[in-house]
Amino acid sequence: MMQDRHDNELAAFYREAIARARAYLNGIYPVENFRESDKDFHHVLNQNKSSSVWRITAIGKLRTFTFYIAIPQTFPDSFPKLYLSEIDYAEISPIPHVDRNRFVCTRNPDTVVLNDGQPGEAIEKLLKVAVNILEAGMQGEMKKDFEEEYIAYWNDESELKAIVFSDLPAPPARILMYAFAEPLLDASYLITTSNPIVISWLQRLGVERHISSEEKVLFLQLPKVPESLPKTNRDILTLFAHLDPASLSALDSFRGNTVLASIDRGDQFMLFAWAHLLLPLKGFRRKKGKIPLKLSMRQFPDEKIIRFNIKRLDRDRLIRRAIDMGTFGQEHDSITIVGCGSVGSNLAMLLAKSGTKNFILIDEETLVEENVARHLCGIHDVVTTKSKAEAVKKTLEKHLPFIKCDIHQKNILDMLIHEPQTFNNSKAIIFATANMAAERRANDFFHTQIIKPVIYLWLEPYGVAGHVLFVSPEHGGCYRCCFDFNGGFLFSVSAPGQEFNRREAGCQTTFLPYGAADLGMFCSITCKIIIEILCKIPARSTLYTWIGDKNQFESNGFKISGDYAAHDNYSIHVRNPVPQVMCELCKTKH
Ligand SMILES: [Zn+2]
Repeated sequence: MMQDRHDNELAAFYREAIARARAYLNGIYPVENFRESDKDFHHVLNQNKSSSVWRITAIGKLRTFTFYIAIPQTFPDSFPKLYLSEIDYAEISPIPHVDRNRFVCTRNPDTVVLNDGQPGEAIEKLLKVAVNILEAGMQGEMKKDFEEEYIAYWNDESELKAIVFSDLPAPPARILMYAFAEPLLDASYLITTSNPIVISWLQRLGVERHISSEEKVLFLQLPKVPESLPKTNRDILTLFAHLDPASLSALDSFRGNTVLASIDRGDQFMLFAWAHLLLPLKGFRRKKGKIPLKLSMRQFPDEKIIRFNIKRLDRDRLIRRAIDMGTFGQEHDSITIVGCGSVGSNLAMLLAKSGTKNFILIDEETLVEENVARHLCGIHDVVTTKSKAEAVKKTLEKHLPFIKCDIHQKNILDMLIHEPQTFNNSKAIIFATANMAAERRANDFFHTQIIKPVIYLWLEPYGVAGHVLFVSPEHGGCYRCCFDFNGGFLFSVSAPGQEFNRREAGCQTTFLPYGAADLGMFCSITCKIIIEILCKIPARSTLYTWIGDKNQFESNGFKISGDYAAHDNYSIHVRNPVPQVMCELCKTKH
């Protein structure tokens, strides 16, 4: 009963808001209802099935505009949509912020909330915004907007979709396009550089697609965004003649029919493609091989081109959508993670999602069922994959199509002896092994054999704290300098002398208890710190200590070290470890 009444009140609220808005608008513009004979009403209703559609004519400074406004049933909590009449659209398109459906993009509904107390005024405001946008566009004031939306306009009238996921060579270049017998991600084509790349990519995704054809693609770079949308062979020739005469010679010798163009706009690049129909040319009929593209374009200038919508799955598109990477994660930078346990594996995924593309993963261990509660990989990976490093690789590669992982199911100390060259190209080496002996030896190695910045990570028992230790290869204050004679960590948050290791009943594995939520917090903070370190390598060794849930730790009967008595839960503390006189590596580096 209560539920029904509540629903009815809400429905009544929306009905009333719509009625009020309409009454208000009627005082300014005549609002017309659906007319069976008006094609525009049908066009807008087809795209907004449960909305009411009103026709309103608004007068601007340059002309009048006829809008069809789709009012959703939950207006004003849902945005009304404004469409131009077919006649108006034909007269003023192409114009920024209006798509092929004649939808006028006024505000971003994700960031703007309509005034629910004055629904009529809210629509009136939207109408004014729309008129301003249209008139600015008509006067060419929105050239920059047009450039920014170029790909959207291009895709609006594209008939085919092609995926680009991998790195392409620098243009100008000849690359390849493969047709799938069945679409993948809604696309029937994939543009890349070789067949084996397609095969391994499909394998990595775990999908099967029959490749029905392969054809050549000419990959060119344009110096700037074209001012119009080409429709025919002639338009393309004009576009190149204006923008980039040098590329015309590339078209001269190209005997294919598909062109992929990129435009580098500094902070991002744009990709779009089109195909020309290949028509039989006089004098070329009997010759083998295809006709040079430019020749065919010249002979059939009115022939329409076919636009491709490029579905980009490359790192720049997927990651830049999420964050500004700054200098982090440049194209060839790789990060080595030693230890693919709960910390290493979850951190790897965060670093990947933040823009790291190349990983070297080292772990000799096998993934087992008792790992999965805190590990990045789940029981499915335990069943199908043996090594931790391989399981992490597969998970990363499945999640992000551009990731590259080299894996080594080996002991880190053996690798330092036999394969030290593995570490040569790493931007940083991250240790998450929870193995003090190995980490101590690595500390010495990366100070004396191969000089590299190394970052050590570990969680304290019950996740009461976590540490990120960056060791500068040049200056004193190393891993060893952070421990006492007995191997006790000098900056431990838990008080010394307590026993934490738990042993699983009836089994030999011991583990440090901590929860997945503590681990998640630590990994997130660690990822932020590592990005900061990699963007600007600190001059000195630095220890970042994250304090977890001290209260929970103490309520379990454990003690916090006196040094941290006054520190807040979930705070971060930064210090520079001092070179110790007793440290063989640092005693000369005071
Ligand atoms: Zn030292």
